[in-house]
Amino acid sequence: MEYQSTRGKASSVSASEAIVRGLAPDGGLYVPKSFPQADLQAWKDLSYPQLAEKVVGSFLTDYDPAFLSQAAESTYGTAFAGKAGHVEKVHDGLYSLELWHGPTCAFKDYALQLMPKLLLQGKKNLGRTETTRILVATSGDTGKAALAGYAGLEGIEISVFYPNAGTSEIQRLQMATQQGDNVHVYAVDGNFDDAQTGVKKVFADAEVAAQLEKRGIRLSSANSINWGRLVPQIVYYFYTYFRLAADGAVAWGDPVDFCVPTGNFGDILAGYYAKRMGLPVGRLICASNENNVLTDFIRTGTYDARRDFHKTASPSMDILISSNLERLLYHVSGSTEKVAGWMKDLAAQGHYTVDAATLAAIQESFACGCADDAQGAGEIRERFEQDGYLCDTHTAVAFRVAEECRSAAPMVVLSTASPFKFPRDVLEALGVDAPASDFEAMQTLTEKTGCAAPVALSSLRTLPVRFTEVIAPAAIRDAALR
Ligand SMILES: *Cc1c(COP(=O)(O)O)cnc(C)c1O
Repeated sequence: MEYQSTRGKASSVSASEAIVRGLAPDGGLYVPKSFPQADLQAWKDLSYPQLAEKVVGSFLTDYDPAFLSQAAESTYGTAFAGKAGHVEKVHDGLYSLELWHGPTCAFKDYALQLMPKLLLQGKKNLGRTETTRILVATSGDTGKAALAGYAGLEGIEISVFYPNAGTSEIQRLQMATQQGDNVHVYAVDGNFDDAQTGVKKVFADAEVAAQLEKRGIRLSSANSINWGRLVPQIVYYFYTYFRLAADGAVAWGDPVDFCVPTGNFGDILAGYYAKRMGLPVGRLICASNENNVLTDFIRTGTYDARRDFHKTASPSMDILISSNLERLLYHVSGSTEKVAGWMKDLAAQGHYTVDAATLAAIQESFACGCADDAQGAGEIRERFEQDGYLCDTHTAVAFRVAEECRSAAPMVVLSTASPFKFPRDVLEALGVDAPASDFEAMQTLTEKTGCAAPVALSSLRTLPVRFTEVIAPAAIRDAALR
């Protein structure tokens, strides 16, 4: 299987090369040149790790199947507490795919636990021996998931930069207590933009690259434009469909709708790949919070990032430029020239409009909707009071939108974070005054709901804090060069 750039000006590469490079040299994203077809009958009874080997292997054809089998087993076996791809019935016809049983309690674990292994093996496949130094700017979730994925791996170092006082107490402790000799965590004296701008500057700094190269180090990023982060997410769409079919919740071959709380468009795009591989996916419903640039786009064909940025209770969806949408635009328009033009307009003017045929092709597979914080909070309360089901603030947005978009098909909401990651917001939604400390809020949430907090979160209180360094944004460069 070969990969090409969405912008058409870079040569085709293998999967190993696409994963090691991340971004294509022409600024585009790597996409597979064709969609491998699923063998649904042969796959339907496989365990999660076995299915992951099949799905990932059908895209990463230059990887040794024995390696993929071992990597999938070690990633999705015990690390997800036997709950990889766990589906919970909420009420008739409505299901929650709980993607937060991994080590950091957010869905990003599915990709970031496997991707580091794919990167290491990709380097081996290409005969590359340099040290890879990963730099991550994070507003919270990605930083911890990346640290947990890369910690302790040979030939890889990772440095994470988060805004000082810009994350929740839990998110900060998740990062500051990270174990491993190859990890570094810095609080940046500024907001997320300051951290992100600082890291982007380092990536663009030729002098930094030259100095590191002399020491045998090459910089790389862990963000979701890397093909290696997208492909593991395709697996759980298949796994969920097979579970619903086995339980008689859907007749074999009939469609299932999926509603996805969306930020960078990676998670929902994985569902589109599953559909193109032959899975009976009905509609993919893109759920946004108040930063509803994608809702407008899917309705009208105009992507307009020139709008106010809202800080919401679902911070991982607070995004105005959804990078992975570029991959969908390529697949539906089939034109690298068109994609390159739209991306140029977006960078230069902050907006673009696709042609009618492209919009129609998008609307054939995608529906959309948005919900603000008050609607999300109402949904947390309703699901708990009516169904006894507790969800977090991101999942709540999707539940709300799913209700508006119900068809005759069963609806699966992708639940992307544990409610205990945002205990204060969840408590307030349930009508309880939240204590100031996240840990006390977790305790109160357990008392109120009878749900236990994940040990990975409650144990943070007593873990030793390893990283306390606060640096100025201008010092990110020095930190990256250490
Ligand atoms: C990252 C994240 C999302 C958004 O996923 P995308 O792939 O960026 O669309 C939604 N919810 C949570 C909790 C996340 O961490």
